[in-house]
Amino acid sequence: MAEQVSASERILRGIPVSPGVCQGRILVLDKTRFRVEKRLVPDAEISGELNRFQQALVKTREQMQETQRQLLQNLGANHAGIFDAHLLVLEDPSVIDEVVRRIQEEKVNAEYAFGQVTERYIEALARVEDEYLRERASDLRDVSGRIMGQLLGVSDQVNLAQLSEPCILIAHDLSPTRTAQLDRKNVLGFATDIGSRTSHTAIMAQSLRIPAVVGLKDASEQLASGEFALLDGFNGRVVINPTASTLAEYGQLVQKQVSLAEKLRGTLAQEAITLDRRRIVISANIERAEDVDSVRSSGAEGVGLFRTEYLFLNRDHLPTEAEQYQAYRQVAEALRPDPVVIRTLDLGADKLLPLLGMPAEMNPALGWRAIRYCLQHEEIFRTQLRAILRASPGGNVKLMYPMISGLDELIQANAFLEQCKAELRKEGVPFDPRLEVGIMVETPAAVAISDLLSRHAQFFSLGTNDLIQYTLAVDRVNEKIAHLYEPTHPAIIRLIHQTVQAARARGIWVSVCGELAGEVELTPLLLGLGVDELSAAPPALPPLKFLLRRLQFAEAQELVQFALKSESAAEILSRSVALARRAAPSLFEAKK
Ligand code: PEP
Ligand code: MG
Repeated sequence: MAEQVSASERILRGIPVSPGVCQGRILVLDKTRFRVEKRLVPDAEISGELNRFQQALVKTREQMQETQRQLLQNLGANHAGIFDAHLLVLEDPSVIDEVVRRIQEEKVNAEYAFGQVTERYIEALARVEDEYLRERASDLRDVSGRIMGQLLGVSDQVNLAQLSEPCILIAHDLSPTRTAQLDRKNVLGFATDIGSRTSHTAIMAQSLRIPAVVGLKDASEQLASGEFALLDGFNGRVVINPTASTLAEYGQLVQKQVSLAEKLRGTLAQEAITLDRRRIVISANIERAEDVDSVRSSGAEGVGLFRTEYLFLNRDHLPTEAEQYQAYRQVAEALRPDPVVIRTLDLGADKLLPLLGMPAEMNPALGWRAIRYCLQHEEIFRTQLRAILRASPGGNVKLMYPMISGLDELIQANAFLEQCKAELRKEGVPFDPRLEVGIMVETPAAVAISDLLSRHAQFFSLGTNDLIQYTLAVDRVNEKIAHLYEPTHPAIIRLIHQTVQAARARGIWVSVCGELAGEVELTPLLLGLGVDELSAAPPALPPLKFLLRRLQFAEAQELVQFALKSESAAEILSRSVALARRAAPSLFEAKK
């Protein structure tokens, strides 16, 4: 996949997910994790190898017991139980005895013997029909990774929150949790082997304003720390050892971006209204309370999606009601009277919380996430609902549930909310009694029953990231099938249309808060489909407003009439792109 351009310059191509260009030395993370060399060990050193293995087991046990202790303290025995299974793996004689035997008989180093044995067990377990046994494969993988880390002396991950010098990070994967930790001062940009445009890692990069490229396939294997690189987050490239002419070319690109930003500054305070006077609300998506500054400076009219799960990540205890209240209140007050849509916890899938001992799942995107998790963890859910209710008098707060796939979930969630309101009334704690409650429409099921759901919700917000993933059966974080992730697929256009019609029939408003909302080339489609609001990452908003002010609603509606009859995603895409480019050519000149 590396394209040889000159003796030293190499270009790796991936998927651009967060705009910007940066250059610097690269730091490759976790590189040695699974590279285990076979070494023959002289007889005199065998006992030393066995000892190293025992020490790694002991250290791993100590670490896991400490995590378990913290879990027990914060969440109680139910959650800490997950580690019991993991600890049992550490005592499993079938694995341990075989590793010992291999070290003694084959006279090999401990990590090699250990890797051979565990890989065989993991593979065998992963293949069996029985779900319980298959789960043990993931326990074994988790624990063996920790033991291997001890043996190789690489168990301490680089502290991404505090790097000693500026660098471009290269990793096989960066979980949203690790991305949220990044030291913004020293991480110039990052690139990963896996991932795609709507993975939460990509979304976090935009929010942190760190240029990023994902889906580079094997960059973390190919590259070595210390190499000099240029990362282009506009076009999805990482250039290793860029030549002087490449650097000059990129200098011009950056210059064009700077002049475009200047030009867009003029639109910030203006309304997003089309030439034929169709008004669209432009809001921001945020992940952390401190993002409010960027909401105002991007010209947003409020927050259309506050992804609250980031308040829960990277900490050693769950945020209390008071901590959550403070965060929500701070955002509500800062943006008053503009609305702030606070989404309840959407953990699960790629946002796992180690603190809760959330298990790895076979099909995480279809698994125990979001509202499903919350409805089974009353305490966590009620604490958040109370915090949101208490924050509501501080501004214009709205509440939203993620991943609704059936009417019962919505009714149950609303029942919890009513209970929390009753408690607060009893306690004499004020809240906004007219607090609007809406849902994310992000499963095909929710679209199909949007007429029913609209009876119990005061607004819809289309989560196109998940809606596309579930409708097209295309994993949103899998770079191998990223080409199948088509926002203009006729199925997607029809589902958005159906949702808007159901909302219209009931007189409720509809927003789009998936990444689609920030893609200017597709704005004509969303406009024509009749949504009331577009909510996207703050950096995406100025171009969006600029374009909307140059479009005709009537023309966008004609485009949608065409799209609803079209057989081809490519045709819909090219017509929308053509319309956007014709209306605002200068927006597109700054790309390479
Ligand atoms: C979505 O699915 O489009 C969405 C906005 O939610 P998230 O990206 O957090 O899953
Ligand atoms: Mg979603």
